[in-house]
Amino acid sequence: MSNLRCELCGQEMHEGELGGKAWVCSNKQCERSDPMWLSDSEKRIRKLLAENDEKIKALTTTTVAGKRCDIEFHKVRLMGEGSGTLLFENGERIPFMKSDGAYIFYTIEEPMIHALQTNTFLEHIENLRWLSIDRVSEILEP
Ligand SMILES: [Zn+2]
Repeated sequence: MSNLRCELCGQEMHEGELGGKAWVCSNKQCERSDPMWLSDSEKRIRKLLAENDEKIKALTTTTVAGKRCDIEFHKVRLMGEGSGTLLFENGERIPFMKSDGAYIFYTIEEPMIHALQTNTFLEHIENLRWLSIDRVSEILEP
């Protein structure tokens, strides 16, 4: 018999299955009877990540040099302070990275280079970079 009690309802907890929570509440009415129940800090992190995702979604699609494009930051393989790809509607792709505080866009198209180096676009991509990279690590490791 375990004498571990549920923090929420005071009922007895039993050991959970592999892959779930270590302790699960025996009271079926209690939210902690779900083998994947979330603690308060896990709920808080999940909420912050969901809010952050909404902001990222709103900034992901933009227009550069009259062309609609999606900005995608690499989540796994980062170079410098952040790297990613601009994906244009016509299938064109422009890889980029941030290094020593400046963005480098890998394209030789002059008008596009000028459009990408405007303050408006640089502020936009910097906001998105912050939400995609810095903000996420801040949420996960407060
Ligand atoms: Zn309970």
